[in-house]
Amino acid sequence: MTDLVRSWIDSANSPDTDFPLNNLPCGVFSAGETAPRCGTAIGDFILDLHALEESGRLEFGGALKTGRWNAFMSLGAQDWARLRSTLTQFLGEDSDLKAAIVPHLVPMDAAALHMPFDVAEYTDFYSSRHHASNVGTMFRGPENALPPNWLHIPIGYNGRASSVVVSGTPVIRPHGQLKGPNETNPRFGPSQRFDIELEMGAIVGQPSSGPISVTEAFENIFGYVLLNDWSARDIQAWEYQPLGPFQAKATATSVSPWIVTAAALEAFRTPTPQREVELLPYLAEARPMLYDIDLEVGLAPEGRAETVIAHTNYKEMYYSAAQQLAHHTSSGCPMRVGDLIGSGTISGPDKTSRGSLLEISWGGKEPIAIDGGTRSFIEDGDTLTLRGHARGNGYKVGFGECTGQILPAPTT
Ligand code: CA
Repeated sequence: MTDLVRSWIDSANSPDTDFPLNNLPCGVFSAGETAPRCGTAIGDFILDLHALEESGRLEFGGALKTGRWNAFMSLGAQDWARLRSTLTQFLGEDSDLKAAIVPHLVPMDAAALHMPFDVAEYTDFYSSRHHASNVGTMFRGPENALPPNWLHIPIGYNGRASSVVVSGTPVIRPHGQLKGPNETNPRFGPSQRFDIELEMGAIVGQPSSGPISVTEAFENIFGYVLLNDWSARDIQAWEYQPLGPFQAKATATSVSPWIVTAAALEAFRTPTPQREVELLPYLAEARPMLYDIDLEVGLAPEGRAETVIAHTNYKEMYYSAAQQLAHHTSSGCPMRVGDLIGSGTISGPDKTSRGSLLEISWGGKEPIAIDGGTRSFIEDGDTLTLRGHARGNGYKVGFGECTGQILPAPTT
């Protein structure tokens, strides 16, 4: 296990911060009158990278002055590493640049956080064994829990980049076409089974124009965010056959405000689980490409305390983001800088490690206790918060919170 890299900023050395010097995540912030600008989180502060490039202390061809991370990602791995090593020097405990850096530190609680990158396209997968088994058992019975292709292909669908929002953005309960099992005709109304999906999102940092290997895919991933793929189960149940989810997952997908880079997660790499059937060679991983990241979900009704309703780990995935991305390009599908690849809901083996309310309440049959009541699905006013940490020796690398409050459906 790796050790904390100490900084001259005290709060960055705390075992409780998401943002030690080992992390250096990529975000976009504003404070006061400034337009949104690129920054990195360090302890309780944000370091203004726009200002550092303007002053000539950082030189990336102006990429850090664009108010989004896409231009910087386009520069490639050599520049990704150069920024990381330069910032490690600036902020390390032996830095002789403290006086030059201090004016560019903004207290985090005085800043607003914005979408850190422009999402080029958004694809969502279905790659957690326990999630797929739970959902399959509910819908098709335990004998047919996994679809026949599942152990061979990372299954996915093309989502909407336009619906991806940053943490903190309220989410309005959607209307949709609904038809219960005992209803003869569908009706149009607010979703009654609105849900979360606890996921990780991988961000493509280099373009590709044809099939790429799993190793190339791994190298093209710039970093990761927490991702909540809000899902209307009742809309989904009626619409999804045979082309998969559509309006059920088009309302919003929330992401954490900080992109944690692949470099910051390098110390936490772990292999995908034992294969149950051998994969075709184009999906084989040459080395571990998954990460050990603890994940949790909290639910707080309006005016009430939060209850942690799930605790799981990214290493529960059956397919890594690199395998998903390689598969995605196998047809020749081009990838762009800023493409977002959702892992699929991450569930573990236990009842307490399920990444959706659909599974936690077993389709609404087993409501769970929370502060002030019970829940099967999300109610208006509820705030759902995802958190994630990789844990090192005396420090953790975190993503900040990925949170959203559900507002009532508009009256029609
Ligand atoms: Ca999903």
